[in-house]
Parts: sequence; structure tokens; C-alpha cells
Amino acid sequence: MAASRLTVLAGPTAVGKGTVSADVRARYPQVWLSVSATTRPPRPGEIDGVHYIFIPEDRFDELVAAGEMLEWACVHQRHKYGTPRRPVEQHLAAGVPTLLEIDLQGARQVRETMPDARFVFLAPPSWDELEARLRGRGTEDAEEQERRLRTARVELAAEAEFDVTIVNDVVGRATDALIAEMGLTPHA
Ligand code: 5GP
Repeated sequence: MAASRLTVLAGPTAVGKGTVSADVRARYPQVWLSVSATTRPPRPGEIDGVHYIFIPEDRFDELVAAGEMLEWACVHQRHKYGTPRRPVEQHLAAGVPTLLEIDLQGARQVRETMPDARFVFLAPPSWDELEARLRGRGTEDAEEQERRLRTARVELAAEAEFDVTIVNDVVGRATDALIAEMGLTPHA
């Protein structure tokens, strides 16, 4: 069943992965977006269990040791993020099209364990645009912005590892392209 495949969406910080995947969910409620666990503290407005599952580091490490993470990574050399394995397996088994929005290190791990997944790289229209988006959203302080930009340079260099690249110039268009990659039928 093509529509029940796993799609992995990766790409550098601030490229708009969150916006595009939220747009997919808004237009295609049948898509299930995995909720990651993280050791990062919640940002204002983020809800536990909705945006992330916020857990302390010792709990995170226990879950990794128990094999409960499909993949995990320490992102921007800072906090740990991981995809709880069971909900992904359950949704795929039930035929639900499933989307993971994760970083490059995580995408590489999923490629090892689930090579049939579709790997999509979301790219910015340009480096300048990426930098402007990161600085403009104002959710990170200057030091964190620099750290994220350093990671972004490494992540951009990995584009060729992916099955397909989608340039996020206009959100609606990027969503359409992702929908097509997921094998879903576009509708108005
Ligand atoms: P943020 O702190 O801005 O929410 O996310 C930082 C980075 O962590 C983003 O690049 C995001 O894609 C990545 N990320 C979020 N969830 C996961 C996950 O479950 N696994 C991995 N490997 N990366 C994740």
C-alpha cells in the first residue's frame, strides 16, 4: 500500500520543516505526524504530548537503552531528540501515512533500519534566506543562532543523500510537492 509508507522529512534548521508538516496535517488530516521526545525545555506555547514529549535526560537514556527509540540524536550539540518507535510501527501497520520530521543524523539512522522509507530533503531557496529566517523567528538567542547555523552548513551538504529535494520557497508549493512524494492524492 503506497500511501502507508513512511516519509522522513529532514533539512537544516529554520528551513520551515515544522510549517510544511503542519500544513500537510491541516490539509491532509489522515497523515500522522510522529511526536518526538526531547530533553529540550518547552518554548512558550509548546504543549507536552502535542509538539513534543518533554522528558528529562535520564528518562530519555532509559528509553534509548530499552530500544524504544526508532532513532535519536543530540541536535546542535545540545539536547537529545528521538522518535518513539512503537507509535510509528503501529500507525504504519494500520496503513496510516506517517511523517517524521527529524534532523540529518536521525534520518541516516532510519535509512539503516527502514530503507524503504522515502527520504525528503527540505532546502531553503538560498543560504541568505535561511539565515534571515533563523534570525527573524527570534526563538533562539545569538549564541544558539550561531550554533544552529553551523549545524545548518553541515546539513545542507548532505542533500545528495536524500531521495528528493523540495525547495521551500512558497509553503503551499512545498506542501504540494511533499504530498506528491507521500503518494497522497492532491485535493483542493
Ligand atoms: P527544535 O528545537 O527547533 O524544535 O528542533 C531542533 C531540531 O531537532 C530540528 O532540526 C528538528 O528536525 C530536530 N528533531 C526534532 N525531533 C527530532 C527527532 O525525533 N529526532 C531527531 N533526530 N531530530 C529531531
